[in-house]
Amino acid sequence: MADQERFRDDTRRWLDANAPASMRGPLTNPDDLCWGGKKTRYPADVKRWLDVMAERGWTAPTWPREYGGGGLSKEEAKVLAEEMAKARLRPPLTGFGLSMIGPLLLQEGSEELKREHLPRIVRGEIRWCQGYSEPGAGSDLASLQTRAVREGDWFLVNGQKVWTSYGDKADWMFLLVRTDPEAPKHSGITFLLMDMETPGVSVRPIRLISGSSPFCETFLTDVRVPARNVVGRVNGGWLIAKALLGHERTMIADVFKERDDKQRLVSSARRYLGGENGRIADPVVRDRIAQVEMDQACLDLTLARSRDNAKAGHKPGAESSIFKYYGTELNQRRRALLVEILGPQGLGWDGPGFTEDELRVTRDWLRSRGNTIEGGTSEVQLNIIAKRVLGLPD
Ligand SMILES: Cc1cc2nc3c(=O)[nH]c(=O)nc-3n(C[C@H](O)[C@H](O)[C@H](O)COP(=O)(O)OP(=O)(O)OC[C@H]3O[C@@H](n4cnc5c(N)ncnc54)[C@H](O)[C@@H]3O)c2cc1C
Repeated sequence: MADQERFRDDTRRWLDANAPASMRGPLTNPDDLCWGGKKTRYPADVKRWLDVMAERGWTAPTWPREYGGGGLSKEEAKVLAEEMAKARLRPPLTGFGLSMIGPLLLQEGSEELKREHLPRIVRGEIRWCQGYSEPGAGSDLASLQTRAVREGDWFLVNGQKVWTSYGDKADWMFLLVRTDPEAPKHSGITFLLMDMETPGVSVRPIRLISGSSPFCETFLTDVRVPARNVVGRVNGGWLIAKALLGHERTMIADVFKERDDKQRLVSSARRYLGGENGRIADPVVRDRIAQVEMDQACLDLTLARSRDNAKAGHKPGAESSIFKYYGTELNQRRRALLVEILGPQGLGWDGPGFTEDELRVTRDWLRSRGNTIEGGTSEVQLNIIAKRVLGLPD
């Protein structure tokens, strides 16, 4: 206990001395969220916050020190998270490296791959993207057709990926390729790591309903990938792919922990619908807000329990589908309720007559439609829960 209190005091002092003032409080400008990588330039304070935290390994607090992580125990990591929350400090780094490929490499990667990639993820040097989906392989991912043919120490990769989030900003991709077209479809797949600068990789952004364009089509033509970049076994990629999806689904649900705008539904309802004796005037809206917030609290607590288990070495399994399903459906309910509360002010796109905040409500609502699709659709999560969690027959 005394050690922990000392760690808390030291941490608080260090954060006070090292965190730039502008990194405190809610994120108002999306450019201030650091995804790392070589292709994006971040404001000076964002970069400084990344560098000082990475120096201590605190961008990945529980990863082992030998791979650049903080080497913190589960209890110490919790203290760090609590002190950052108290100081209203934002995470110094986000992205698929920290939340998906890093945890996967720790679990399944060769020593060589861990040493090559994990320290660069911790330092935010490399931004990763995910090459799973193809035009003919989404929910039925194992139908993927991108081919990789072994040529000595290399694989020659040809095919197309789609819905590659931030493919245009990423430095490396983790992808699934078919290495044995004769084998049953789940058995002929390999998990590869690929530098996006390799000749033959080309990326084209796709425009979305929400106006921004975070994802891309990725075309692969005679791309030479070193055979040492295989994670797991050749033709054993399906197991690796599923292990990564466990991390991805937990991460997606984690995103929907309410962070910065806890009071937003309540304050918006008071503002747009009026108040009565300090309460929201409309009793039906009051009821619906209470339900959303109670469901959120249950999700947050369950996620916190699961995170504690993960730090104790438990690998995320099929239960991550429950978090993914619940977190994304709940986020859609929250966003739709906010639009209803704002009324016509929640349906702006651009131009005069709407505040920045109101326009964000519309865009966040539209973006939330994708939440129940990315990382596996809600229907697919329900199938997994039915079969692998509840053990129901096919
Ligand atoms: C915002 C966003 C970001 C994404 N980012 C990435 C990324 O970075 N990398 C990447 O590889 N992919 C990414 N994806 C793609 C995503 O993984 C796929 O869209 C998803 O797996 C669904 O595949 P699909 O779009 O081909 O739909 P389909 O598989 O064609 O599904 C169409 C509909 O049929 C339903 N359906 C299909 N099969 C079943 C079944 N067996 N039982 C019941 N219903 C079923 C689905 O639920 C869905 O409603 C992203 C998607 C979104 C929306």
